[in-house]
Amino acid sequence: MSQHGSSYEEVYRWSIEQPEAFWAEQAKAIDWQRAPERILDDSHPPFRRWFVGGTTNLCHNAVDRHLEARGDQLALVAVSTETDLTRELTYRQLHREVSAAAAVLQSLDVGVGDRVVIYMPNIAEAVVAMLACARIGAIHSVVFGGFAAHNLALRIDDARPKLLICADAGMRGGKLVRYKPLVDAALAEAAHAPPKVLIVDRGLDPGLERVAGRDLDYAELVARHADAEVPVAWLESNAPSYLLYTSGTTGRPKGVQRDVGGHAVAMALSMRTVYDVGPGQVMFSTSDVGWAVGHSYNVYGPLIVGATSLLYEGLPTSPDAGIWWSLCAKYRVRTMFSSPTGIRVLKKHDAAWLRKYDLSALRWLFLAGEPLDEPTARWINDGLGKPVIDNYWQTETGWPVLCLLPGLDLKPAKFGSPGLPNLGFNLRVIDEATGRDAGPNEKGVLVIQPPLPPGCLSTVWNDDKRFLSSYFSHFKELLYSSLDWAVRDGDGYTYILGRTDDVINVAGHRLGTREIEEIVSGHAAVAEAAVVGTTDELKGQVPVVFATLRAAGDEAARDAAARGMAERVTAQLGAVARPARIYIVDALPKTRSGKLLRRSLAAISEHRDPGDLSTLDDPNALEEIKRALARGP
Ligand code: ATP
Ligand code: MG
Repeated sequence: MSQHGSSYEEVYRWSIEQPEAFWAEQAKAIDWQRAPERILDDSHPPFRRWFVGGTTNLCHNAVDRHLEARGDQLALVAVSTETDLTRELTYRQLHREVSAAAAVLQSLDVGVGDRVVIYMPNIAEAVVAMLACARIGAIHSVVFGGFAAHNLALRIDDARPKLLICADAGMRGGKLVRYKPLVDAALAEAAHAPPKVLIVDRGLDPGLERVAGRDLDYAELVARHADAEVPVAWLESNAPSYLLYTSGTTGRPKGVQRDVGGHAVAMALSMRTVYDVGPGQVMFSTSDVGWAVGHSYNVYGPLIVGATSLLYEGLPTSPDAGIWWSLCAKYRVRTMFSSPTGIRVLKKHDAAWLRKYDLSALRWLFLAGEPLDEPTARWINDGLGKPVIDNYWQTETGWPVLCLLPGLDLKPAKFGSPGLPNLGFNLRVIDEATGRDAGPNEKGVLVIQPPLPPGCLSTVWNDDKRFLSSYFSHFKELLYSSLDWAVRDGDGYTYILGRTDDVINVAGHRLGTREIEEIVSGHAAVAEAAVVGTTDELKGQVPVVFATLRAAGDEAARDAAARGMAERVTAQLGAVARPARIYIVDALPKTRSGKLLRRSLAAISEHRDPGDLSTLDDPNALEEIKRALARGP
């Protein structure tokens, strides 16, 4: 990687010590209409601007620039086991569809800087809509399909879109989820409802109703613009490209604002170094396009490097628990990306599914989004016989913060750690009390020393104050933190111990709920566990465990499992960490993106108000917890 050497250590040092030179080199991986005048403007920290004065376009980099060399190569494969439909689009076909969609947007008076809310299932049309916005310089804001009307209304009011694009319906496990009534309800609630709604009618909802004068049919309009040529809008590198709200695990979601040039450069770099995917190769991310992973590694990352992106609508277990692997075999997937939650779902099924298909093309499985517990990591690692790599990142960062870089110089993985700082991320672990750097193996808060590298958020949409107060106000020094608790070992591997609010204090001992979860999950009978602290008169706080089992057993089996969990914790962390109560439940409350809602669990186990539940996936899971609490451990 240039005269600076090719080992991870050398390249990383270059990226931190000479960021302008490093990023000037990386910027060559994308097309610029006008080259940047300045690589970094850091004159108003913590705001910073990358590739100042350069003009580029995400759609051009993701689609147009590949037409000549790989127009007939697959760009996007969208598989749905819900509708049993597969759409395969070459770069040329994608270009055609995106151009037509962009012309439709322009005909609806959408232009540079206008927001467009996209509320769609995980289908090709969602990707086309995103790219069409990017093409004309409109700012897309994808809201995960299936979020309740109220969540959608909140995001609409924050983004104030000129247009909303939705589908008639989605499907989940064979069940119809009608989107349009949710859109109608959201628009009725919102103070800033857009004047027009564009509906992709999949023909799933026979009762689909249209509001005259407001609701338009996507297919009809696209047909009218089928041959349209829409030139890309060249944008200054720091113009907003899209908004995306965080998962809302800790409270009201924040509207992360991404730029154009920095995002494109970070995508190109990470596809090569982190994900080891290049032109003509296939990446399968099981994420929904509504999440950060979906934006970065289902859409922009793979397309910017000329790879093929595989998009999947459906459950990981339908028609059977081998579906992901059968797709990997069919499309010769090289790199797969999923989440620990997804793997834990598979773990309830026979590991033989992992060996049923020809996975000779598959090189890597990446997992991100939440702690990867060792039992889950080992199960999938042994079952697949492929390297499993944990990535730590955030919606805000848009690409990995902690990772291993098999495309550059693969360091050995250590279970429980997402690895080493990614290129460009100057990471520190800070002692909360003193504000000083924690030593090796000392716990602290993970922070990024500004400037944030390209690809990370520019600000919180319309709310610079919240950008500062949410991320930069925790320490005397100007440091970015989303308040994750971490420890770095002597080799520089960082372990994420949970969020700082997930730390509990038992009789003066600070314990990460994550550490206890890890140990409890190691019990053979346990599928998944959540640990929260509840107040205790004597000790201040005590750990309480909620766990689901791999197989529903009788009462004796459940008791034995609970005893086994308690013994493991005592043996490994000491009696101080011994769970005060263990509840065996059928489901744990999670956000729509699959994250445990520990704050709500903690609240209801103390009979407090569970707080903002707008991102809760399945309300039954919380009811189930309440019933378990009433029954007793
Ligand atoms: P909100 O910020 O709205 O409360 P959120 O933090 O869950 O929600 P995301 O951006 O989806 O929103 O998640 C990022 C967080 O997920 C990280 O800050 C971290 O707490 C957790 N996380 C992500 N990847 C990992 C990982 N590999 N190991 C441990 N934790 C992880
Ligand atoms: Mg967060």
